Amino acid sequence: MTVLADSTACRVEILSGLNAKAPAAILIHGHDSCLLLDAGGALEAGADSGWVLPQIPDAVLLSHDHVDHCAALHQVPEGVPVYATAPVAAGLQDRPDIRLLPLQGSIEIAGITVTTGQAGHSLGGVWLHLALGDGVFYSGDFSLESTLFALDTPPPAALALLDASYGLYDRAQQACRAELEPWLERPLLLPVPPSGRALEMALWLNDRPDCDWTLDDPCRRQLDLLQSLPPGLLQPGVAERLARLKPQPFGDDVPIILAANPDGVGGEAGRIIAQQAQQAQRAVLYTGYMPSVAQAQVDSGRAHWLRWNVHPRLSDVLQLAEVLDARRVVPLFSRLDPLEAWQQALGSRLLMQNLIEI
Ligand SMILES: [Zn+2]
Repeated sequence: MTVLADSTACRVEILSGLNAKAPAAILIHGHDSCLLLDAGGALEAGADSGWVLPQIPDAVLLSHDHVDHCAALHQVPEGVPVYATAPVAAGLQDRPDIRLLPLQGSIEIAGITVTTGQAGHSLGGVWLHLALGDGVFYSGDFSLESTLFALDTPPPAALALLDASYGLYDRAQQACRAELEPWLERPLLLPVPPSGRALEMALWLNDRPDCDWTLDDPCRRQLDLLQSLPPGLLQPGVAERLARLKPQPFGDDVPIILAANPDGVGGEAGRIIAQQAQQAQRAVLYTGYMPSVAQAQVDSGRAHWLRWNVHPRLSDVLQLAEVLDARRVVPLFSRLDPLEAWQQALGSRLLMQNLIEI
């Protein structure tokens, strides 16, 4: 058990995710308990997470189900309970002690009041607010621009640990979509993570007249999942728009294909990309984080990359810090480079250290 001074409400120990695009793992030490927020695995298949647990926590809380936030759960002893929202818990069957986090609400975990709300980033993804001192807020990954998922307004927090995956990037999603438009004129494969961007892109494609598009089984399963959610958890009007989605049956003859392909290798997307090596009739366009296999395809001219925002722009990070009324802000999951630009953006609120006491 960590011994804290009486005047200290808690100690935050960022095990991984500070000043680097690295997996998420943050220990919160209270006076009587210790919580691990996320247990992120490496973004590259087969690579090490890069962090070790200095002590066994009382519980693990998962913000969402992306590999860099949950794929190193095996590093936490099996007896430690894992808290996750129902959509995230559905993918954790191997773990013996899963307990439910609300998508919106409060719960007591190891004596700490934890409040959650949707983070606007993925199915079942939440931010976490801990009632320690004047409040500790961890965003997980978040977005203010999702047309699919809502971001619930969090309560105030003096210390904010915020997703800043895109660094100083500040381009609006509308501009990203405009840049993607010309690509829809030719046969196109969009390799996508099924949870999140895939269905957001499907809504976008479906709104376009004369656009024939399809999606593979993993993306279609996400559609089924989304349609089973209470409508209040999605952006207004989205449940009705999802019900109107009209994908073509999956097949290589459909002009626009959305297909799962997280690592640039597997799935229908991987099969089509391999085919392309022989006969390049279909453009391949990545829109998210690039594992090395995908990056190699882009570097060799066999695929292309344009960003579709699923993380916050710099102005979104600043906006959320304002909403929280945060006195100290730790930007996560990006190199803070150049540091002067971050200092200018956040002023005296910027904090860049692994150990923080409040
Ligand atoms: Zn994520």
